[in-house]
Amino acid sequence: MVRISIPTLPPGPLLPPNELTRLPPTLAAAHLADFLERGRGRTLVITGAGVSVDSGIRAYRGKDGHYANPNYKPILYHELVEDTPRGELFRKRYWARSFLGYPPVRDARPNPTHIYVAALQALGLAPNLITQNVDNLHPKAASLILSSLPPQTRPPAPPSILELHGTLAKVHCLKHHHAQSRDDFQAELAGLNPIWDGEAKESERTGRRPRTNPDGDVDLPGADFTSFVVPTCRICAEEGIKSSIVKPNVVFFGETLTPHVRDTSLSLVSSASQILVLGTSLATYSAFRLVKQAAESGKEVLMISLGPSRADKLAGVDKMERKAGDVLRTYLDEVVKTNSGPEVDAVKAVLDQGVVITPPDVEGHGGGVTSEKWEAVEWFRER
Ligand SMILES: [Zn+2]
Repeated sequence: MVRISIPTLPPGPLLPPNELTRLPPTLAAAHLADFLERGRGRTLVITGAGVSVDSGIRAYRGKDGHYANPNYKPILYHELVEDTPRGELFRKRYWARSFLGYPPVRDARPNPTHIYVAALQALGLAPNLITQNVDNLHPKAASLILSSLPPQTRPPAPPSILELHGTLAKVHCLKHHHAQSRDDFQAELAGLNPIWDGEAKESERTGRRPRTNPDGDVDLPGADFTSFVVPTCRICAEEGIKSSIVKPNVVFFGETLTPHVRDTSLSLVSSASQILVLGTSLATYSAFRLVKQAAESGKEVLMISLGPSRADKLAGVDKMERKAGDVLRTYLDEVVKTNSGPEVDAVKAVLDQGVVITPPDVEGHGGGVTSEKWEAVEWFRER
């Protein structure tokens, strides 16, 4: 029997706001300015779920660090890849729910904080980014800035963004690691499961969610998980390989990072002069160890995030208990006022393009994205 513990934060009293947290907004921004100045363009940014909340993608830990949904039960890696009839049932269930849960993530737009982080990268203030988010919103924000640069001033490669826990935008097969775009796979799922596709289109149109049974199964008239058809890898099939399991390119609970991603993340930390941590509880070890490694090697760590974090008692970590986007905006307003050049113009042009969507807390309210759909996203968040 495999035992997997879902990372969570130990209970503890909430600490009173520290000196950094009590700074008025302009001084908080000035503190960030001094910090980035000391980094001399070698600051590494690490982000988490808190950064995507304003895009309507709900963080699953509340302000007290515990799961917002007490019935939260993520699917585990070993269940998803089990090569048995039981595993097949897990995959049907997973892909059926994910089929309904994916469109809002696919269509989500970067919020102001994503834009500000992309601005730090574009301006060379913090060129490298590691994110725990799998929602593809940091790359989307980066390409907004790239496309507002005049073609002759665009850098040859997109900025460096390491998606520590993968991305929902791609899937791959477990046998040969053939990569496929999630959109193509989504279309394949739609074609094979017309009843579910009808429901997906209907709820996109009306914002209503399908009824949910107490055990969390989606209740669709005429459809159940066992009838959901999950295609095997298309490329394997073309090569005559019969059953190859397809998995989203995200790290599941109980799954380890690939050696490449792990090594890249550790070397980004070693080559950085200091670390700026934004919007995360660092509850997952893969992210926490990066901050720990930095702090232990004497690098300065500034954390701007709301709510308790696993790094709160770590020596060498300065924490500002604030919404990261607010501090970044005040700081960037000053930067674009006092600097010039094509990158500054490009940043100015997109600074107000972030889109804020409030996730619905109450059934029947909010912009068309409802809790069961978000649950499909939450399965992936912040390992
Ligand atoms: Zn394949």
